[in-house]
Amino acid sequence: MISVLSIFRKQYPIVLPAERHVMSRGSIDPEVLEILARIRRGGYKAYLVGGCVRDLLLGKKPKDFDIATEARPRQVKQLFRRCYLIGRRFRLAHVYMSRDRFVEVATFRAAVDPQEVQDAGRYAANNVFGSIEEDAQRRDFTVNSLYFNSADSTVIDYTGGLRDLEKKLLRSIGDPETRFADDPVRIIRAARFCAQLDFQPSGADLKAAKSCAPLIREANDQRLREELFKILRCGASEGTIRNLIRFGLLGEWLPELAPKRYHEALFARLAVVDRRRAKGEDLPVCVLVTALLYDLFAEATGTDGGRQSFQEAFMLLKERFGEMAAKMRLPRQEWDNICNTAARQMILMRPGGGKNWKRFEKKFAGNAYFSQAMLFFEILVEATGEHAEQLAYWRRFAHTQGEAVDSKPARPEAVRRDREPVVKPRADSADEDAPKPKRRRPRRPRKKRPQEQPSGGASA
Ligand code: ATP
Ligand code: MG
Repeated sequence: MISVLSIFRKQYPIVLPAERHVMSRGSIDPEVLEILARIRRGGYKAYLVGGCVRDLLLGKKPKDFDIATEARPRQVKQLFRRCYLIGRRFRLAHVYMSRDRFVEVATFRAAVDPQEVQDAGRYAANNVFGSIEEDAQRRDFTVNSLYFNSADSTVIDYTGGLRDLEKKLLRSIGDPETRFADDPVRIIRAARFCAQLDFQPSGADLKAAKSCAPLIREANDQRLREELFKILRCGASEGTIRNLIRFGLLGEWLPELAPKRYHEALFARLAVVDRRRAKGEDLPVCVLVTALLYDLFAEATGTDGGRQSFQEAFMLLKERFGEMAAKMRLPRQEWDNICNTAARQMILMRPGGGKNWKRFEKKFAGNAYFSQAMLFFEILVEATGEHAEQLAYWRRFAHTQGEAVDSKPARPEAVRRDREPVVKPRADSADEDAPKPKRRRPRRPRKKRPQEQPSGGASA
C-alpha cells in the first residue's frame, strides 16, 4: 500500500516522490521502461498510466502497461521500428516488444473528444489532443488516472486518485451522473473494478449508477460483449455480477438473468470460475458463457433432458436463445460451441443405459466438443456438489480412451478456439449412434442438413 499519504494538499497535481509510495521501477517490465526512455530521449514527456499504475500501487500484478505521452502518434512512430498506428483516425500507437507483445502508447487526449461531439451532432472543436491535465480529466475513475514518471519514479495525481486508493473508494472523475450518462459502459466497469479491487463505489457513484442503469440499453453491443468477457476473465466475476445486481444494471443489460431464482446457482458457478482464474487457468469463452447462462439452458431443456436426445436439446437451445446470442454479439461458431457444451451435460449426468451405449459413449468422448463439455461439467460438479460419481466415470473413461487415442494422433481432443473443430460434427448422422434406451423405433428418414447449421451441429 501507499506508505505515507497523510499530508494532503488540495491543490493538484499532487506529485508523490519515489520514497513515499511502493511502486518501483523494478516491478515494471524493463522493455516498457526502455520504450518510455526512448520517447523521452526523443524530447517528449511520457508516463505509465491507468490500470498498471493503480495495480502496482496496490501491490498487485498489472495485466498490461499503458503509456500516455505528449508525442503525437506520428512522432511516436518515428521513434520505433516496429510501431503501428491504429484506431479511428490512427490515434493510438502500438509499439511492439516482440512478435506478439506490444504496449499501447496514447497521446494525451483533450477533455472533449471532437469526434464524439460530432457524432452527437454538436459543433466539433479542432483538437483531439490535449495536455496531461486534460488527459487526466477525461479518464473514468480517479484511481485510473494516476501517472508514473519513470525518469524520477514520481506518481502524479490530478484527480484525487491517491486518496481514493487509500480509502478503497471508486469515484468518477467529475459528476458521476454526467459521466455515466455520457458512457453507461462505465457503470459496468465500476462494478468490475469494485469487485476486482475490493473497493466500494462512492455514495454519489452508487446513486448515479442506479439512476443511469437503464441507459445501458443504448450502449454499443460490441463494447458490451468485450466488457462481458473481461468480467468472466477478471477473477472476480461473482462479485461483479453481484455489484451489477446491486446497481440495478443486470436486468437492463441481460434481462434473461434478472430472475432471482437463478442467482445462487450462478454465483456458485462463477465462484468456481474465479478460483480457477486465481490459479492461472484460462478457460475458453464457450465454458465461461455456459457458466453464465446455464440455468436458462437447463430450465429450457430440463436437467435430465426430458425425452429428447442431446442433439434435439442442442437445436432447442440454439433456436430458443438465438436472439439473445445475437444481441450479445456472440460469433456463430462460439454460439454453437456454447449450445454444444450445454446440451452435452445431460449425457454427462447420466452415463450408461441403452443397448448402443458402448458404441455411443466412445463416439461421444471422442468428439471434438467432449473436452470443453467436460470442463464445464467439472465446474458444475464443483459448484453444486452433485454428479461427482458421473464425473469420475467420465474421467476414467476419457483416460482409458486417451491411452487408445494417443496412438491415433489424427483424432483431436479439443476444439481450438480460433479455428473450426478438426472433426466437424455431423448433425444429420448423430441420432444413429445415440443410445435408445426404451423402445425400438423404426429408423426415421434422414433429415436434410439444416441450412443455418454450417459446421457446428451436435454429433456424438
Ligand atoms: P484493466 O486492469 O481491466 O485493464 P484498466 O484501468 O487498465 O483496467 P482499460 O480498459 O485497460 O482499464 O483502460 C485503460 C485506461 O483507459 C483506464 O485506466 C482509464 O484511465 C481509461 N479508460 C478506459 N475506459 C474508459 C472509459 N470508458 N471512459 C474513460 N476512461 C476510460
Ligand atoms: Mg488495462
